[in-house]
Amino acid sequence: MNDFEYLRAESLQNASGEQSRDGSRFLAGGTTQVDLMKCGVEKPARLIDITFLPGLSDITVTPHLIRIGALAKMSQVAAHPGIKRSAPVLSESLWRAASAQLRNMATIGGNLMQRTRCTYFRDPVAYSACNKRTPGSGCAAIHGNNRNHAVLGISDSCIAIYPGDFAVALTAFDARIVLQDPDGQIRRVNIREFYLLPGESPHLEHDLKPGELITAVEIPVVPALIHSHYLKVRDRASYEFAAASAAVGVELEADGKTVRDVRIAMGGIGTVPWRATDVENQLKGKAFDEETLRLITAVVSQGARSSGHNDFKITLAPRVATRALLTAGGIS
Ligand SMILES: Cc1cc2nc3c(=O)[nH]c(=O)nc-3n(C[C@H](O)[C@H](O)[C@H](O)COP(=O)(O)OP(=O)(O)OC[C@H]3O[C@@H](n4cnc5c(N)ncnc54)[C@H](O)[C@@H]3O)c2cc1C
Ligand code: SF4
Repeated sequence: MNDFEYLRAESLQNASGEQSRDGSRFLAGGTTQVDLMKCGVEKPARLIDITFLPGLSDITVTPHLIRIGALAKMSQVAAHPGIKRSAPVLSESLWRAASAQLRNMATIGGNLMQRTRCTYFRDPVAYSACNKRTPGSGCAAIHGNNRNHAVLGISDSCIAIYPGDFAVALTAFDARIVLQDPDGQIRRVNIREFYLLPGESPHLEHDLKPGELITAVEIPVVPALIHSHYLKVRDRASYEFAAASAAVGVELEADGKTVRDVRIAMGGIGTVPWRATDVENQLKGKAFDEETLRLITAVVSQGARSSGHNDFKITLAPRVATRALLTAGGIS
């Protein structure tokens, strides 16, 4: 690990101002940041510790809006009674992430900013080719072992998966990320615009300007959020990233069998949290039964491209979406 300067931020503006200096990184729970420094992927000149900033851990649940402060711990949010009641998908996506120790340490802001788990990206000593780490150097994964890589949103430059769970749940429900810059200006970005597709510049991952700090996330409360579910399929039952996951919510018409509103976002298959809007549009107005769901969720994988070892994700994803919807709708 390289030598670095450690600063404890005294205020939001102080934190943002310091971070806009070259080579600075925020430090929250440290579970990603310190990891990336240990494996030599990141070599920041200074870490700005934001964990002592007041007012950033609050969680508010009202009938219309859920607001979660960026410094709230994953475990606090997962266990919050109002969130479990009004938005099960948020709580479930956090319970199924990482381990108990990590969830007690890690923050919501840091979780949204976690980086890919591509093994080639995380091992700069063994693999020099990684366009995300070193633009223009190539991609070791495209012809390497790519079982855990993306099938949607990929480019010829990068096929790395977006690894997180919580952002997938937020994506299904059009959450807004609240950002504050060094001048105190506040900006709200729909999470669907926050994560950038790799294209030819996979090193650019977020719509975050220098010095901007995530202060909170806001989730509009809609009926489908109350009947929501997060299903995560993985190689082992806990402490593992998703092979495929689905964050879903459903609202039925008064007849109890026709879809009025449905939300679907997929994890473990895309380079960004993947909203399945085509599937949503085709399901609205249709009968909510297993046969219809199986038929229409096949659209999730339209346009998917596998790279050799990850073909299974193309068939797995629609099944995960179907099962998650059946659970959210109370059928299984
Ligand atoms: C072994 C292991 C398994 C894991 N499994 C999962 C999993 O299954 N699912 C899952 O979703 N995640 C998983 N994670 C990732 C974990 O959830 C993240 O490491 C954690 O959420 C990061 O939060 P943190 O507070 O520790 O962030 P830090 O490590 O402190 O920061 C991470 C990044 O975010 C930036 N940052 C932090 N806060 C802010 C802010 N408020 N505004 C702007 N930038 C900010 C930092 O500068 C840094 O670049 C796993 C991690 C490990 C180590
Ligand atoms: S998939 Fe992306 S992160 Fe992984 S080696 Fe290729 S360029 Fe790097």
